[in-house]
Amino acid sequence: MFLSGAGIRRTNLVKLTLICGIFLTMATLYARAAGDSIEKIADDPACVRALAWIDTSAVWLTDQQIHLTEIPAPEFKEGARAEYLKQILEAAGLKVQLDKIGNVIAERPGSDANSVILLAAHLDTVFPAGTDVRVKRHANRLTAPGVADNGAGLAALAGLARALFESRIHTTKTIVLAGDVGEEGEGNLRGIRALVESYGSRLSAVIAVDGASTEHITTQGIASHRFEIAITGPGGHSWSDFGAPNPITALSRGIVKFSALPVPDDPRSSYNFGMIEGGTSINSIPSRAAVKVDLRSEDEAEVSKMERALRDAMQSGAREEMSAARDEQQTLRVIVRSIGSRPAGKLPDNAPLLETLRNVDRFLGNRSRLERSSTDANIPLSLNIPAVSLGGGGKGGGSHTISEWYDASGREMGLKRLFLASVALAGVQP
Ligand SMILES: [Zn+2]
Repeated sequence: MFLSGAGIRRTNLVKLTLICGIFLTMATLYARAAGDSIEKIADDPACVRALAWIDTSAVWLTDQQIHLTEIPAPEFKEGARAEYLKQILEAAGLKVQLDKIGNVIAERPGSDANSVILLAAHLDTVFPAGTDVRVKRHANRLTAPGVADNGAGLAALAGLARALFESRIHTTKTIVLAGDVGEEGEGNLRGIRALVESYGSRLSAVIAVDGASTEHITTQGIASHRFEIAITGPGGHSWSDFGAPNPITALSRGIVKFSALPVPDDPRSSYNFGMIEGGTSINSIPSRAAVKVDLRSEDEAEVSKMERALRDAMQSGAREEMSAARDEQQTLRVIVRSIGSRPAGKLPDNAPLLETLRNVDRFLGNRSRLERSSTDANIPLSLNIPAVSLGGGGKGGGSHTISEWYDASGREMGLKRLFLASVALAGVQP
């Protein structure tokens, strides 16, 4: 066909308009797909099945939470609780292993075994063996040491395993669900350290499931250093050796000196003298006394500054006690031992992990704020692996006290949040 000059120009214009139109439509569609991706995921029949299961799972979830909470799990003694969690995960069709330090690890393989989304809930509690961990129930409210921290997180992990099982969904990335040991106290994050070391560069995101609340996304790990400071001396009889330097008194002097120092608000920092011990009887001058201290800050340099001040205060307390003693030949010794160190870390504000979580929250109508805390997420964050800590759903309070409580109202939303985030991060396979 022959076209006139004007005809050619018109045809090119039509082509150009068409091409532009196609590009524009593609761009719009792409933008819509990205913006709507959580909606699209939630509409997938597999996800519809999982979300429907979550809506009818309240009784089962509360039963699991009570059972898990009532198995004591002091730090370094998480074995029995780990075994029960293993059974729950196996019943959800997962292959489960215990690693050599006691972490419970369940893998749900995706099409890409080299890319892993890890969800970890800590098994341990701050409560010593012998604590009464029976759950008291009044209507919706459960009361027991550890019922929220981390009964709520463990119940959410169990619920997530079941929701994934019900969905029969295929994901691109492998989803790993883990109950990890040693998050609290002197466990010093040993469980998550081992998990992060074992999955290494395969980790594309880590979500620590800790506590109940859905009102936060913890994106910043607070640095913390923990010490035991012991003071030793000659000891003696309370009457016949009166005037000998006393380690308990020296320790007290040091604590008072350190506590008188200012602590900055910015970077926010804190300290706590959490445990104290020493002496053998009321009428003996003790030969040893010790205190455990937790120092925290948003800024690692500030923790180091507090550490130096703590050492100085304790030395000065001991010197003061020695100079007050009757016999100046009798000396005290200050021994500082590090019993834990948690590195700081921060998820960048523009991290895709955070964007996914914000999209999930928008979809669910959940309002959340960014938060700083010291959790399992500290370890991946300190290694620049994208990580956050999220609550398992419901409400809780009185954490680390024997009057700790949990209320399951709103738990379904928390579980849907974890489910949708996991699936969005792992990618849905047709
Ligand atoms: Zn916790």
